[in-house]
Formats: sequence, C-alpha cells, structure tokens
Amino acid sequence: MKKPNGILVIVSGPSGAGKSTIISRVSRQRDDIRFSVSATTRKPREGETDGKDYYFKTREEFRDMIRANAFLEYAEYVGNSYGTPAAPVEESLAAGYNVILDIEVQGAAQVMEKRPDAVSVFLFPPSLEELERRLRSRGTDTEEKIRERLLTARREYAQADQYGYIIINDDADVAVRQLDAIITAEKCRSKYILEGENRL
Ligand code: 5GP
Repeated sequence: MKKPNGILVIVSGPSGAGKSTIISRVSRQRDDIRFSVSATTRKPREGETDGKDYYFKTREEFRDMIRANAFLEYAEYVGNSYGTPAAPVEESLAAGYNVILDIEVQGAAQVMEKRPDAVSVFLFPPSLEELERRLRSRGTDTEEKIRERLLTARREYAQADQYGYIIINDDADVAVRQLDAIITAEKCRSKYILEGENRL
C-alpha cells in the first residue's frame, strides 16, 4: 500500500481564541504534523521570529508574492495582509505530513473551495469577555486594534457554521486533546488508507 498524502487542517477562530497555543501543543506531541508558516505585512510582536512564527514582509514583497501566484490563499485582516505560501504546503502533504493552517475566515473559505478535502476546525474562546481579557493581557496591540479585533471576532463567529468541527477553548488541555483526536480520526478514514496517494 502506498504511503498516503498528509491531510490539510484549517484552524480558524478570532485572534485571542488560543489557536497558536493549541496548534503548537498538538504539533509538539505528534511527529506527523507540519505547521504552515504564513507571510504577513504585520510587524513582528516581541518574541516572534521571522521564518518561524511568520515570514514578515513589506507591502511590496507581499504584492510580488501575489503576482507570482505564490499563495494558496491570502486575505486582509485588521489592516494587514496575511497569506499561506503554497509550495511548502504542497511539499509537506506530498511527503505524508499533515499540515495545519492557522488562518482567518476569508482565507479559510478560499482553501475550502480549492481543497474540499481539507478538515476545518473553528476554535471559540469561552466568551467575548474572556477574548477581550486575553487580547488586553497580551499587551501587544493598541486600544484601537483591540477594538477592531473584537469587532472582527463578532463577524467571524457568524462563519463558524462553515466549519466541519468546533472546539470551545475554555480548557487548553481538553482543546489540545480534541484537535489531536480530530486529526487522528481523519487519518483513519478508509478512503485515505485504501486510496493512498490517489486521494488528492
Ligand atoms: P495575528 O496578527 O494575531 O498573528 O493574526 C491575525 C489573524 O490572521 C489570525 O486570525 C490568524 O489566524 C490569521 N492568519 C495568520 N496567518 C494567515 C494566513 O496565512 N492567511 C490568512 N487568511 N489568515 C492568517
């Protein structure tokens, strides 16, 4: 039996829902996962590393990538551009790795359209109040950006029904177990195991 391709996992949810934490914990405990590093025009936050958290780009560099058709998807979010470089995703999937995309709802819709086989997960924070508390405690955004992120969160909630799975992140340990279980269950689908590489 041929080694099957990896599965593509989309994780969305308002910023502050805890996506990065949950994704990095699941990635640490499994060796079959690769995280897709996005390109963004946002400035790095303290502690963020270029090439690990994001590829930090100027507006011009980002536009060049769009022109070169380098993105699987891209979108504008709270005044900055974000995009998923297509080539590393394709390479990792072909090598049998499961690839996790941490992307917002407009980009997720583009991926769902292009890749109907992608598994989609929407991560909710326990409440909008808790989301606001997390965004403030991060201490990285201006008051205006926090308000914009909260407004955007409300709009994002309305898109949750487009996703195959929902995780409510009020206990990180449980959320990690749930994302891990979703990936494991998806990998066990008979069509992937029996069809091997032909599935995409
Ligand atoms: P942050 O600025 O907090 O790192 O990210 C803001 C939002 O952009 C988050 O919801 C995150 O999921 C999303 N995001 C990060 N990378 C990408 C990407 O490559 N494409 C899209 N569409 N959204 C992204």
